[in-house]
Amino acid sequence: MRISEAFIPTLKEIPSDATIPSHRLMLRAGLMRQLTSGVYSYLPLGWRAMMKAMNIVREEMNAIGAQEFHLPALNPESLWIQTGRRNIPNFIFSIKERDLVLAPTHEEVIGWLASTHIQSYKDLPQTWYQIQTKFRNEPRPRSGVLRGRQFTMKDSYSLDRSWEDLDISYEKHKEAYKRIFTRCGLNFFIVGASTGAMGGTGSQEFMIDSNYGEDTAVLCSQCGYAANTEVATSSIPPKHRSIVSEPLREIYTPNIKTINELVDFLKLDHTHFAKALAYRYNGSPILILMMGNDQLNEAKLSSALGGGEIQPIDPEELRALTGADAGSIGPVNLQGFTIIADKRLQNANNLISGANRNDYHIANIDLSRDVPISGYYDLRTVEEGEPCPQCFAPLKISNAIELGHIFKLGTKYSEALNITYLDETGKSKPVIMGSYGIGIERIIACYIEQNNDSDGIIWSKALAPYQVHIVALNIKNNVTKEYCEHLYTQCQNAGVEVLYDDRVDASPGFKFKDADLLGMPVQVIVGEKGLKQNTIEVKIRRSGERIQVPLDATISTLQRILSSTSL
Ligand code: ATP
Ligand code: MG
Repeated sequence: MRISEAFIPTLKEIPSDATIPSHRLMLRAGLMRQLTSGVYSYLPLGWRAMMKAMNIVREEMNAIGAQEFHLPALNPESLWIQTGRRNIPNFIFSIKERDLVLAPTHEEVIGWLASTHIQSYKDLPQTWYQIQTKFRNEPRPRSGVLRGRQFTMKDSYSLDRSWEDLDISYEKHKEAYKRIFTRCGLNFFIVGASTGAMGGTGSQEFMIDSNYGEDTAVLCSQCGYAANTEVATSSIPPKHRSIVSEPLREIYTPNIKTINELVDFLKLDHTHFAKALAYRYNGSPILILMMGNDQLNEAKLSSALGGGEIQPIDPEELRALTGADAGSIGPVNLQGFTIIADKRLQNANNLISGANRNDYHIANIDLSRDVPISGYYDLRTVEEGEPCPQCFAPLKISNAIELGHIFKLGTKYSEALNITYLDETGKSKPVIMGSYGIGIERIIACYIEQNNDSDGIIWSKALAPYQVHIVALNIKNNVTKEYCEHLYTQCQNAGVEVLYDDRVDASPGFKFKDADLLGMPVQVIVGEKGLKQNTIEVKIRRSGERIQVPLDATISTLQRILSSTSL
């Protein structure tokens, strides 16, 4: 492609809301433009990179025997009502004129196809996939294409006869994902993830470490334990139960609202306190008890409760329900609430919590004696430095961006959509499903997050929109022009994807800057001076290394460089 004829709108001024490197560079290098919040147009260079990523994904999916589909983005609303997902908050875009929705994922459509066509054990296993546009009503689109309202996903679905066969499909996907992200040049790690309200028996996420990530991962550098904070645990000890439970006693705690204030006021460490948090779960009040300063993890809470809507109770309502403000509520003699507690408090005694009266707390609470606890669950967020659940080494916490997710769904959709097959004995059984997603934009943006410098993007040959970038220093010079035209044709004939900066009025300095910004792996710099000595210069974008190459060896040198694995 000749740059003089190409649409590559590079930018000097970046909108102030573009704060993360990949977002800034995708704008600066003319890869994409925002149309409206969370919605992007991919321009030719950006789309070429996306296609490279999609082809890698496609090759690896085909290699595990997955078959490619193209499913409709417009779905009948009824299908989503049937699976109970129609009203998940911040998920589905609706269509005003008809009973249709824009699909945020495709378990429903796959399930419908499977329920209509899969009949016997002979029809299984199947692995179906597509690379297609998804729509999600994200409340806070941000970080450029990393969180869009419209984005491209590779989604695949496995349909198996048994849980053992699902394990095989899942492992195949896991291996394919490792190959995909490795080929894309991403430095990734895998964590155990939440199965959330979807149930299922297991799920893992592929992530990159990034300060801009909206996820957090808990990692052990000693044994390799890795989990999303939504499911991570630690070996932090539970509250020790004292031999004697003292009688309940009200204590005066004027103006004391937080656990830290209580710690100072009563000169006791935070493990003596049960913090009480009030929510509504599917409309009904629920009180959650946490030890001292332990943070409630809402994802764990949601999984523990089996999905559904969870909302904090607002202050006025809380006062009406308990008689107190947030810092003074507690579990003793509390009417109208279901009460659950974190596992660390299991059967704990001699605890201090709010008295449901402002300025008062109750001491010596014995949870098994004084409180009708409906259940103990793991509800706390692991903190940096806590002991690893496997090897007790101190845990680290990193922010991370999710690239992909693999999920043992099990029978949730088979039950909702009646996806069954007849086994060898003629008995009807539910199909066991798995679902597996990769965000294509996230591959591109995460790659740029990990591969850039102050000058611009550093593409690997696997994702680069073009492999070679010819920089003609002064195209007004006939010898330079003639050689560049010849090299451009030679590259094309040799099947090398080439971008050719043939602009007449751009200065050499300007062209160098653009070449570094656009970031193709190999630059060929052609100028009068070199040509007089029968040489051109090859610059490797990643290392900055420069090589003088004799004219008659240009193409062979380029091919040799391009076949090296380090590019
Ligand atoms: P997140 O927690 O980041 O919202 P998710 O758990 O909703 O992701 P999945 O439903 O598992 O994501 O979707 C599969 C993949 O699609 C994700 O791993 C991610 O790469 C990509 N993805 C999900 N939501 C978006 C989005 N809003 N914009 C771009 N890519 C997305
Ligand atoms: Mg999401």
